[in-house]
Amino acid sequence: MKLDWKAKAALPLFLIHMLAAALLVGQAVPLDVRAATDGKVTQESIDAKEKEIDQAKEDIKGLKSGLSDVKKIKEELEREKSDLKSYVSKLDENLAQIEGDIRRLENEIAVKEADLLLSSSELEQAERKVQEQYDLTKTSIRFMYEAEKKSSVWELLLSAGGFGELLNRVDYINSVYEYDRNLWEEYLLNRNYVQLCKEQLEVERDYLEEQKQAVEEQQAQVEELIEAKRDQIVAYETDISNKEQAIREYEQEIDDQNALIAELERLVEEEKERLRQQNAAVVTYDGGMFKFPLADYTRVSDDYGERIHPTLGVLQFHNGVDLAAPKGTAIYAAYDGVVVAASYSSSMGNYVMINHGDGLYTIYMHASALYVSADQSVKRGDAIAAVGATGRATGNHLHFGVRKDGAYVSPWNYLSK
Ligand SMILES: [Zn+2]
Repeated sequence: MKLDWKAKAALPLFLIHMLAAALLVGQAVPLDVRAATDGKVTQESIDAKEKEIDQAKEDIKGLKSGLSDVKKIKEELEREKSDLKSYVSKLDENLAQIEGDIRRLENEIAVKEADLLLSSSELEQAERKVQEQYDLTKTSIRFMYEAEKKSSVWELLLSAGGFGELLNRVDYINSVYEYDRNLWEEYLLNRNYVQLCKEQLEVERDYLEEQKQAVEEQQAQVEELIEAKRDQIVAYETDISNKEQAIREYEQEIDDQNALIAELERLVEEEKERLRQQNAAVVTYDGGMFKFPLADYTRVSDDYGERIHPTLGVLQFHNGVDLAAPKGTAIYAAYDGVVVAASYSSSMGNYVMINHGDGLYTIYMHASALYVSADQSVKRGDAIAAVGATGRATGNHLHFGVRKDGAYVSPWNYLSK
């Protein structure tokens, strides 16, 4: 049997305690994050939290590898337990066979015992017959002696009245002897035969008894073996249940760690949002004039204000200025600010919206390319996009709009041609 798993099991269990300790330390982290959100959020504080998330993810890798080790050990134990069980069921089969043998032998012994009983009574009967015949012979001879008052056979013979009587007496004695002896011999022969049969039966019974004893010893050995194997199975089951406990602990810790990561990530998102708001809040407009959003192409193809629509012939309000320029011409940020959106819409095409603070925004539409992204801080004159004709546009141009306190205003309030 393999016992080296015990050594293997020691490491993961040690790991559990190490990681549990690490977790307790880790659990202080969300409190720190919450404390930080009460004060000022910085990119550094967000970076620090993200590093902690990475560390927690590393910890999970360690836990998962420990978990997989314990699972392997458990599988190994289960395999060995199942091997043992099939061995025990084989032993059970053996035992059933042995018990069958014992029953068969017991039946055979019972039959022999019955035969022996019968043969004992036959023997008694035979012996009784021998004895009876012996007694009969003795009685008939004594009767003859006593009738003639003679003390011996010779006297009996010699006391006969004549030769004829003598011969008669000799014949009589002989015939009595002959008859009795034949019967006696027959009975003796029969008794000896019955005796022999009985002895043979006893030998057979003793042999069966020996066999039974041998099989019973075998039975005891197999039962002992089964008992030992069942103890081993119980030991395996204990080990397996310990491993299951360890697996549950690992899984619980992985769940806890994942919950911690989720909480950290949520808090980091909150911090990022706060940081965005802080950045947005610090933007203030100092009242300076805008930089013209294109370098060389200052031809206004469609001005701000009310105008007759060129094809529809109806009066329309144009909320910005259209500046004609070749595709790819750099578009500049009109003033310092933070990019609110750098995105696409079906009407505006690729567009950029910049917050300059104090409710002042600029919008740049129909770009062929965008060079900035949301939340990015920009300086007056930074290249933020390239001229194009995306969205609802008939040709390459920049539609430049300005919003103040939630409404479009004339860009010429902030621009000079
Ligand atoms: Zn326009």
